[in-house]
Amino acid sequence: MTARLPPTAAVAFDAAGIPHAQAFQDLYFSKDGGLAETKTVFLDGCNLPEAWTGRETFVIGELGFGTGLNALATWQAWRKARAPGSVLHFVSVEGFPLDRAQATTALQAFPEVADLATRLLAAWPVRAFGPQRLWFPDDGFALTVLLGPVETMLAAFDGPVDAWFLDGFAPARNPQMWTPEVLARLTAISRPGARLASYTAASAVRQDLAAAGWHVEKRRGFGRKKDRIVARLPGEAPTPPRRPTRIAILGGGIAGACLAHASARRGLVPTLYLAGEALGDGASGNAAGLVMPRLDRGGGAPTEVLRSAYLAAVSLYQNQTPDAFNPCGVLQRPDQDRAVAAFADLLSDPPLPSAHLAPGEGGALHHVTAGVLQPCRAMAQLTAACAVTPNTKISALEQTKTGWHLHSDQCQSLATADVVVIAAGAGLAHFPQTQWLPFALSRGQIECAALADPPAQAITKGSYLAPIDNAVVFGASFAPAAMDAQNAVPTATDRAENLIRLAGLDEALAARLDPNRFTSRAAYRATTPDRLPIAGQAPDHAAWTSGHPGQNHAGLWLLGGLGARGLTLAPLLAEHLISLICHEPSPLGGANAAAIAPERFLWRALRRGKTL
Ligand code: SAM
Repeated sequence: MTARLPPTAAVAFDAAGIPHAQAFQDLYFSKDGGLAETKTVFLDGCNLPEAWTGRETFVIGELGFGTGLNALATWQAWRKARAPGSVLHFVSVEGFPLDRAQATTALQAFPEVADLATRLLAAWPVRAFGPQRLWFPDDGFALTVLLGPVETMLAAFDGPVDAWFLDGFAPARNPQMWTPEVLARLTAISRPGARLASYTAASAVRQDLAAAGWHVEKRRGFGRKKDRIVARLPGEAPTPPRRPTRIAILGGGIAGACLAHASARRGLVPTLYLAGEALGDGASGNAAGLVMPRLDRGGGAPTEVLRSAYLAAVSLYQNQTPDAFNPCGVLQRPDQDRAVAAFADLLSDPPLPSAHLAPGEGGALHHVTAGVLQPCRAMAQLTAACAVTPNTKISALEQTKTGWHLHSDQCQSLATADVVVIAAGAGLAHFPQTQWLPFALSRGQIECAALADPPAQAITKGSYLAPIDNAVVFGASFAPAAMDAQNAVPTATDRAENLIRLAGLDEALAARLDPNRFTSRAAYRATTPDRLPIAGQAPDHAAWTSGHPGQNHAGLWLLGGLGARGLTLAPLLAEHLISLICHEPSPLGGANAAAIAPERFLWRALRRGKTL
């Protein structure tokens, strides 16, 4: 029983190489030609490629990712005809994921898409509950696989979707994929005029689609099937809002760098404003930091966001900044008695497959794919395509009809932008619009010691040690700090404490090091009362407190509260924000988005009859 992992797919291949799902007694695609079926049933059925012509962004939703064949055929059609800068999102739900080997066997039958299949298989999603987004920016193609039961995954996805491919196994054998609730959810997250196609023509599905608001038609079926469904929602396909072009990112840490990279994937060139001289003058300027998951025993939104963020971070650093990331693995030792039981429980029913999470010595968690990032190297690569403006501290933001004006300390207007994202780490709450945020700062100091033979693996037990080239980085100290704290200065006391902490991880190593030769660095981390990050649109605090809850500042976004987990959280949260800013579907919707939205603190206060 592995309740924390999605169930595997039991697949058999017939003599013709067609995969067959044993649990559902059904095929993954038609015996009469899988690719021809995709083209006739799904692409033609949704009037593609015509419907996406001229669109800056188009979104296809699919129920049943399976082998990824529909995704590949759609990607192929898209890359042939796409206009420069346009993006196709293909978002697919899958409850019983095939592994890479099964998918490789299944896709071998389709040499027409072999080059794309190789790229997809190399990035094949990890078997873990939650969203995983795979970007292929050269083709303007983003594939998001939502791994989990269909109802749960659709509840945590907000769309908007332009076309649906309904490709669950036959309704008679797999009714969960076709319930009236599932079909009604499709309507709720579609744009007006959206299209839908399916290979089935089951009358119950047609009736339930009609009840959910779709105009349903029967068309001649593909191959040996008599009929199939095409459907449309009423209303004109609207021209979706255009992406903003002037994007200002305030902050030169890992959050700002990941926002810049997420923008660049879409061909956007944001401006990054740094208060200091260079990237990484705050906590992200440390010589190294760990990229590792926070695994919780329970389920629910925060657990899913944290796990998905980890997978997104490892994938980004491995693929985009390989020389900044050492996937050496992290051994997480229990730091308290309750952690011993929690780790044993996690290992008895792991939330990640064994290639990612394995038992370590002494009841530790071995995060096999985790590792050590040298953030300055990574940030330089992630921001390569954006405009970086150093020594430009933005102190105030003012919105007028022409956009957001960025003001200096001396009230001088420095620039105007359509969209501003504040990703200023400890400085996030320093703006009139953000002062209400319930933030706490803590001072953290780390040490770097030269070492010819650094340990092979990173270790953590509350504090950590991280090997980098010819050195080891360790720490960190923790001390609450005032909200207006600035320019943390290293202290000898923290240095001594860090050495004691290191001895708790590796006594022999600590004994070999000379504390007089450490390079110390201190910075501030920002945390929230619920220890979860902040990522979303900035609430209009004045409107909330004057009886208008739910109002936001249009064009103002926040990313922060990353605590000691910035390197792990920033990639997914940046993708979440840039997706929303560009009017695209985010990988995080529903309860996942709500768990990290800045407004959650205001809703909680309102429920308690308090104000923030
Ligand atoms: N579109 C796929 C392709 O291109 O290979 C074929 C999809 S196959 C016909 C149906 C898929 O739906 C299977 O991969 C199956 O695991 C998935 N599925 C079935 N029931 C599900 C459920 N309740 N929730 C999520 N996925 C489900």
